[in-house]
Amino acid sequence: MASIKEPSFRDSVDLMFSRAVALMDLPPGLEEKIRVCNATYTVRFGVRLRGQIHTFTGYRSVHSEHMEPVKGGIRYAMGVNQDEVEALAALMTYKCALVDAPFGGSKGGLRIDPREWDTDELERITRRFAYELIKRDLIHPSQNVPAPDMGTGEREMAWIADQYKRMNTTDINSRACVTGKPVNAGGIQGRTEATGRGVQYALQEFFRHPEDIKAANLGGSLDGKKVIVQGLGNVGYHAAKFLSEEDGCLITAIVEHDGALIDEKGINVEAVRNWIGKHGGVSGYPHGKYVENGASVLENACDILIPAAMEGVIHMGNAANIQAPLIIEAANGPVTAGADEILREKGCVIIPDMFANAGGVTVSYFEWVKNLSHIRFGRMGRRQEEARHQLLVDELEQLSADKELGWTLTPGFKKQYLRGAGELELVRSGLDDTMRAAYQSMRETWHGREDVTDLRTAAYLVSIGKVASSYRALGL
Ligand code: NAD
Repeated sequence: MASIKEPSFRDSVDLMFSRAVALMDLPPGLEEKIRVCNATYTVRFGVRLRGQIHTFTGYRSVHSEHMEPVKGGIRYAMGVNQDEVEALAALMTYKCALVDAPFGGSKGGLRIDPREWDTDELERITRRFAYELIKRDLIHPSQNVPAPDMGTGEREMAWIADQYKRMNTTDINSRACVTGKPVNAGGIQGRTEATGRGVQYALQEFFRHPEDIKAANLGGSLDGKKVIVQGLGNVGYHAAKFLSEEDGCLITAIVEHDGALIDEKGINVEAVRNWIGKHGGVSGYPHGKYVENGASVLENACDILIPAAMEGVIHMGNAANIQAPLIIEAANGPVTAGADEILREKGCVIIPDMFANAGGVTVSYFEWVKNLSHIRFGRMGRRQEEARHQLLVDELEQLSADKELGWTLTPGFKKQYLRGAGELELVRSGLDDTMRAAYQSMRETWHGREDVTDLRTAAYLVSIGKVASSYRALGL
């Protein structure tokens, strides 16, 4: 195995795709049609900064337009390249199909180190990049809707939305041209936390199935599980925070770009996040043990490993040393195709990226719908729901008084029951439902077919099946 060359990210996605389609009965040609990336646009543009013109290279790749708009994040990182955006665009196609978000797959990237530029400079660069994409309809409410990814967040999305608005002054749906915006600029409650929240819901669903827990050689519930997280950015931070604060998990190691922190007693996620915010990395953090070679900590013993930073971190070189019996791919493509094979042979269960991190696109879908409907979720029904609940509570209390039954409803119950669902509750409920349903569809295939032995293949089978039916419906 070690002599075989590590495939590129896109090759990895293609290999995993091919493994799955070999088990399907697709008409000749359709398999290739689904696999290939439809188009990748490369743009080079100059921005005058610090007294000179700087040229930047960016990409927007469209993998599949079986449904439109196509959807996928925009990444800011020095490693951005065509192979990477095409792999990520393909994953978006499969991810959207798996969670029934009605989009095709796309992805974008800008080769830039965001830490090298100040806010004003980043805004000018982002607006210029957005201008190039908008004028080619590669950002458009009904054709192509980006979202945040590595190195970008709601600030960049707000700049992009504003740039689109300036170039399309009469488009009433302009806010739907991008998701992941701040709530006060057309965003939706719960989007920032969505991907990490989705990772939590994915794990909660996994731990509802004793058969699946056993397949990973684990027992019990999430409570007390030892977790290693790589990358304390948007996805990793929220996943680690929710799992430790709400599910009783112990975060025993955090791996960041400048090293790792280890503490078997459990790390305070919030405190480390604040430390990184102030100092730029984990080194110097006063608690736990610091290890300079962060990547080596991925090999430490734990119950659940959550790679939430970037692709290719578990590869043919370290896969054999990974001790975690359960890996949940919060990042896109953290396990290469070669590593996937080694880990499967070891009996490690991998909850695949296209499902594990689909919380982001799911809530982006809700945001897009909110923008198109021009109304916040819950605005019409919340008070009505509360009034109906109040009616029932009053009736019960009256009944108790009239019949001298002597019972009362506990204040805690009343408070919770009387509260109508606001936008955040509805978003979380929609996300939880989506993650449960997608997991069910994967596990039915995983346990229901003799020739399917892992969740990733099951995920591909479900999603490719859905994409294929869309193409068939289009007459292809
Ligand atoms: P982010 O930029 O917010 O965070 C990435 C974190 O990883 C940062 O803290 C960074 O310092 C750290 N990091 C970088 N290189 C590292 C290394 N070599 N070792 C350890 N840590 C390292 O990015 P994000 O939005 O959290 O995205 C992370 C991953 O999740 C990416 O693969 C992305 O495609 C995927 N993803 C993100 C979203 C989303 O909504 N943001 C949705 C789906 C998937």
